[in-house]
Amino acid sequence: MATLTSPSTQQDWQKRSLSALWHPCTQMARAAVVPPLPIARGQKPWLYDVEGHRYFDANSSWWVNLFGHSDEGIKNAIKLQLDTLPHVMLAGCTHAPAVTLAEKLSALTGGALGHTFFASDGASAVEIALKMSFHSWRNRGLDAKREFVCLRHGYHGETIGALAVTDVAVFRDAYSPLLMSAHVVDAPDTRQGADSEARALADLRRVLQARRGHIAALIVEPLVQCAAGMVMHEPSYLRAVRALCDEFEIHLIADEIAVGCGRSGTFFAFEQALASAGPPQAGETPLGGRARTRAPGGVHFSGWPDFVTLSKGISGGTLPLSLVLTTEAVFQSFWSDDVARGFLHSHSYTGNALACAAANAVLDRFATQNVLEQNRAQARRLQDAFAPLAHDERVEHLRQRGMILAFDVRPELVGERFAERFHLAARAHELLIRPIGRTVYLMPPYLIDDATASFLANAVRQTLNDVLPHAA
Ligand SMILES: *Cc1c(COP(=O)(O)O)cnc(C)c1O
Repeated sequence: MATLTSPSTQQDWQKRSLSALWHPCTQMARAAVVPPLPIARGQKPWLYDVEGHRYFDANSSWWVNLFGHSDEGIKNAIKLQLDTLPHVMLAGCTHAPAVTLAEKLSALTGGALGHTFFASDGASAVEIALKMSFHSWRNRGLDAKREFVCLRHGYHGETIGALAVTDVAVFRDAYSPLLMSAHVVDAPDTRQGADSEARALADLRRVLQARRGHIAALIVEPLVQCAAGMVMHEPSYLRAVRALCDEFEIHLIADEIAVGCGRSGTFFAFEQALASAGPPQAGETPLGGRARTRAPGGVHFSGWPDFVTLSKGISGGTLPLSLVLTTEAVFQSFWSDDVARGFLHSHSYTGNALACAAANAVLDRFATQNVLEQNRAQARRLQDAFAPLAHDERVEHLRQRGMILAFDVRPELVGERFAERFHLAARAHELLIRPIGRTVYLMPPYLIDDATASFLANAVRQTLNDVLPHAA
């Protein structure tokens, strides 16, 4: 049987792939012109194609990889679990990998988000959070709260419900006749100056006021709207949003599918909104969790969101897993003798034991190996290596949040199919990278030493020289 290593050639695999596969996020007619790269194996940050060329996985394989490919610790955890119990249904049964994972996640929030509901992909986690929010209000007799608010250019996945709170035209427009309508409000964007945050908050307040009593939840991507093109905002925005959600009694859903798991510099991006809220309080976890308090209005809040969604990095980029963390208050609103008041949502592979074992290995790494501290050092290396780009006249808005670094190519220079040309040119410099429009970004595995940082900066600079009309 043929394998993805040899003796078939790159062209063979491309041809067979184009005939048998329907590639995601791809116009297949274009893939016939620019065929997919057949990858044979991965080791650390490197991917190797079937001809043996290597490429640095600068986007962590769509933001899922944390510690590199073929990581020993995660691999061993999966192998051990595979020999014990690969999967069992999570209705009527339970198992140690799921329980310990939920306990660890709860501890990381200082107990503020003590209940975990599992699914397998990010979009499903978003669907779950939306359904849970609506159903929770309904169980409290507040049926009218059934509308959702989302941010301009926000991205939350592409199933029908998740797409309804996604504001990325290229994904959304074809299906808009099928979607429930959501309120799209202005998003803060550090590129747009100091008052962008105040404007975004004013727009949010306007909608919350106009639809008072009708809104179930606001969904946000904390600190970085990744799919929008690495659009960044400050933690102060999240604090203000939390306060507005309390004032108008709506849920706050923090979609940390991309920014969670240390990517932003803290385990949960939202922690940065807690940590800067004041001096550390007694009872805080090492990662900044805060004990529950009570808002003036009597509504339970903790400074934390009411829901946090995680996926992508949670299994270290090995197996599909997603989850929704929520509060005691939401959990209690479903507690009843009445079956219909329960949350009856389910997916066949909910809480898959192999994926949970991988996720436990990931969390153990954070707990035992100072991953966050190392990330801060790694982020500084990236910052230093890319600092000269700030003076490159071809680019603008060099920005960074933790292990996400991005810049925009000046609009007058990009020309036709910039992202595709950049991607192809970068391959010649051993770099696998996919810009979003004219935004070039790095979201690498957490394996950045000095040599790697300067390799990345050089490869990006050379690629810019290849694809842009003139070098600076
Ligand atoms: C990727 C992503 C999703 C969707 O996750 P899938 O696993 O691709 O369905 C949702 N929200 C955010 C913020 C994401 O980055």
